[in-house]
Amino acid sequence: MPLRALLIGLVALLPLHAFAEGPAKPEARATHEMVSAANPYATDAGIAILREGGSAVDAAIAIQMVLTLVEPQSSGIGGGAFMLYYDGDTGKMTAFDGRETAPAAVDETLFLGPEGKPRLKSEAIPGGQSVGAPGVVRMLELAHKAHGKLPWAELIQPAIKLARDGFVVSPRLHYLLSVDPHLKKFPASAAYFYDDKGEPLAVGTVLKNPALARTLEQVAQDPESFYTGRIADDIARTVQQAPINPGKLTAADIAGYQARAREPVCPAFRVWKVCGMPPPSSGGVAVGQLLGILQGTGIKDDAPESAKAVNLFIEAERLVYADRATWLGDTDFVDAPVAGLLDPDYIARRRALIEPGKVMAEAPAGTPPGAPQAYRTVTPSEIPATSHFSIVDRWGDTLAMTTSVEAAFGSRMMVDGFILNNQLTDFSFAPTEDGRPVANRVEAGKRPLSSMSPTIVLDAQGRPVLAIGSPGGPLIISFVAKTILGVLDWNLSLQKAIELSNLVYYNDALILERDGAVWADKDALAAMGYTLKEGSMVSGLYGVMIHYDDGGRWLEGGADPRREGTVAGD
Ligand code: GLU
Repeated sequence: MPLRALLIGLVALLPLHAFAEGPAKPEARATHEMVSAANPYATDAGIAILREGGSAVDAAIAIQMVLTLVEPQSSGIGGGAFMLYYDGDTGKMTAFDGRETAPAAVDETLFLGPEGKPRLKSEAIPGGQSVGAPGVVRMLELAHKAHGKLPWAELIQPAIKLARDGFVVSPRLHYLLSVDPHLKKFPASAAYFYDDKGEPLAVGTVLKNPALARTLEQVAQDPESFYTGRIADDIARTVQQAPINPGKLTAADIAGYQARAREPVCPAFRVWKVCGMPPPSSGGVAVGQLLGILQGTGIKDDAPESAKAVNLFIEAERLVYADRATWLGDTDFVDAPVAGLLDPDYIARRRALIEPGKVMAEAPAGTPPGAPQAYRTVTPSEIPATSHFSIVDRWGDTLAMTTSVEAAFGSRMMVDGFILNNQLTDFSFAPTEDGRPVANRVEAGKRPLSSMSPTIVLDAQGRPVLAIGSPGGPLIISFVAKTILGVLDWNLSLQKAIELSNLVYYNDALILERDGAVWADKDALAAMGYTLKEGSMVSGLYGVMIHYDDGGRWLEGGADPRREGTVAGD
């Protein structure tokens, strides 16, 4: 039976409450190439590049430049990103790291107040102190040198044209402007995003960004010009002279930024390998641990969104978040036990802590093999923004990229037409706890721990079958794992898996997605001992599945209805 028919058959057998309600998106299919991204302008730019004979990396560059313009709340050239790339020719996978770095002049006291106590994150975000040296452009340049087919300059043109001609302000951009508490404190941002009366630009306004067009023209001629010269000087000056929280980022910090090509982590989940980012993201390790714990439970036989499945997922997730907060940090600076955390025996010991049908009183971090003795738990709270896109090109190159300015509109400061990140607030503010160092403490030149989880799943033959990822701060781990379970364990279509209810355990309560189908089993969840709360949990899962049959392959896209994105393919 063709896989497609099998999927439809299984889906029909599932109880009705298995699917999230809300604006269902059509399931997209294609044969040769596909793009799934969080904004229609970005999807259009990406598919146009693929049609011109560009590679997945070429399309990613065009998409990122357009996102800088049309989704300034989420990502851009003033931020950082992680890109996981599978080379269709060689079968080799690379984890490109474009995470921001801390300036040379800061130390672990960066986010401490006058009495030596950690400041409130909400107070540390706006202004210059939170801005790390941006990594997106150099990371894209590194990937383009290795895997680009079209000339760099050509890939920037769609964004330049759109910045000159204008784009239509979307409902999401308008909404985020209308609730933002800080943007208006910075003159360049106030002038760009609000009208003469101080009102946020209305939905449908055609917004032009000539400053960004000029910046991108320079980047098109020479990407290095972003890191040396006018743009770098403008970034450093804006950070140092910020009216709120002036920071210490210098032109030398920006010039010295290095993108890195790392080895992905590829833990096993049943017959598959789930490949993701190594540190400085916690994503690959955490998604791998979560699926690793779950594969030894009966979750595959439970209905999606049933109380039994939710219980197993949430208890496993609690154990994973505890390990993440304790053991992980930038491995260029700290000794994080990555292999130990993914060790199957260790994962089995963690799984044994879960009693099905019960809520653990506590879910402490474990002690994985190879763990240094010193670290102490501190969970940074992250405020979700960020964007994810997935691409498959006609050569079988497969790409998943998550890209971020951290909070919505990052530091809120605009330079030369783009937003500067606030990624440094992803560090733990407290350098020590109970006298022991915190793995994710601030250090000069270090990259803050991330949750971003661009993921590529390989089948038993080593072929890519899924590219996926999401925004959502620490919840990214849960959103991505949920989707992978949906397609691999529950045989849902990618679209249905994306639409499954989001959930998380936070502050001793189980937070269920508002209006999610998961509420149907709320009494059973309460009977297990959960305190139930509701939340909005806006994921932005954008993925492509690759199906192989009769020597050929076909592509299936999925786009999260919680954001504005689309899928396009040929
Ligand atoms: N700054 C977060 C991280 O790197 C991402 C924020 C978000 O997804 O909204 O994990």
